[in-house]
Amino acid sequence: MVKRKFREPLEDRKGNLLFDGFSVKELAEKYDTPLYVLSEKRIRDNYNRLHSMLINNYKHVRVYYAVKANTNLTVLRILQSEGAYLDTVSPGEVFMGLSSGYTPEKILFTGTSVRNDELRFLVGTNITVNVDSQSELDRLLKIAVPPVVSVRVNPEVGAGHHSHCITAGPDSKFGLMEEDAVKAYATAKKARVERFGIHMHIGSGILEVEPYVLAVEKLLSIAKRVHEQVGVEFEFIDIGGGLGVPYNPEDKDLDLAEFSSKIVVPFKSKVKEYGLGKPFLCVEPGRYLVCDASILLTSVNTVKVTSTKKFVGVDAGFNTLVRPTMYGSYHPILVANKVAQADKETYDVVGPICESGDALAKDRQLPKVEEGDLLAVLNAGAYGFSMSSQYNSRPRAAEVMIRQGKDVLVRKREELSDLMTSQRMQSGS
Ligand SMILES: *Cc1c(COP(=O)(O)O)cnc(C)c1O
Repeated sequence: MVKRKFREPLEDRKGNLLFDGFSVKELAEKYDTPLYVLSEKRIRDNYNRLHSMLINNYKHVRVYYAVKANTNLTVLRILQSEGAYLDTVSPGEVFMGLSSGYTPEKILFTGTSVRNDELRFLVGTNITVNVDSQSELDRLLKIAVPPVVSVRVNPEVGAGHHSHCITAGPDSKFGLMEEDAVKAYATAKKARVERFGIHMHIGSGILEVEPYVLAVEKLLSIAKRVHEQVGVEFEFIDIGGGLGVPYNPEDKDLDLAEFSSKIVVPFKSKVKEYGLGKPFLCVEPGRYLVCDASILLTSVNTVKVTSTKKFVGVDAGFNTLVRPTMYGSYHPILVANKVAQADKETYDVVGPICESGDALAKDRQLPKVEEGDLLAVLNAGAYGFSMSSQYNSRPRAAEVMIRQGKDVLVRKREELSDLMTSQRMQSGS
């Protein structure tokens, strides 16, 4: 018997895994696998923990949820009820935000390589555009002079869990460098834009406060220069998302007390010192709000032992959760019906996709796994479902949410017929 250390909302009930009070085995039996299970409570807790830390140190705060982490409409609604704003990166995300009940004033658009018809859509729906280039700004101003403009700056400091997820620094495609940002504000001011924001987003999965500290200093110094040279008053200063969540056993939680003392407190004093008024301090967490609020359940189909390896074949592959394949990410995995058993064997946990990169975990220590066991892949709520695909013509998984003491289906499992919906089959001759 082993006693594992669990984070909320996970628990061990006599060797069986509970998620937010529900037996995951029963959920898998009721809804089948692969299955994403979400916890309403954990989403709210994550939001409130972050929001209270910010508001306790600085009165004007906005938390923008970065929609791309998890676009489930019920997730969006829950965050809306907490007072969240949204950060979106495509017209589709704006559409999802509006459809779930957010007003346009609560939605920010931070795109890159944006089309003219997309800009027209944003102007038409009154969404604030956070421009990523002078070209985008010029094209936006040709369509209409919007009441608010924000510029995404590159503070020349990047960070993140994988090179694909570092979104600032000298080689980054994102944002404008200081000189170009000053020019962009001058262009907008000349075009009679009246209200302004400034923005950065340096990367994703950041567990250390240090890169933010440097980047926020740089962002504020750029804001000061724009304020002095161009005469811009900032309504908001957005320091982006990227707040990390521990995945590896050796990772520690992001230290929120340190975040407040090293970022929020200095932000407040610098804003005052630079005469920047009372702008909103905005943050844009995606992962932080939803990552550990969801797990992926997957059933064991096969156990295969070769001369060099032991493989556990499950029914979720990189079609269902791509992070391990795409970024080499580590996700903790539990054998949900054997959580009290000690890890005895080393396995590769592999999916049903016909590519050798299709593995949820490599060389992972687990209790002895048998066919019919149920695995729980933890921290699956961010960039899990939202990056899933129909590759190998496998319909996408279902999503169930634990809310108000009930299990509720919030996305039905796709069916075979969903594989054909947009195809227009022509005759074969
Ligand atoms: C993806 C993204 C975020 C959220 O990143 P997380 O690492 O999930 O917090 C925030 N802002 C922008 C502009 C993004 O593109």
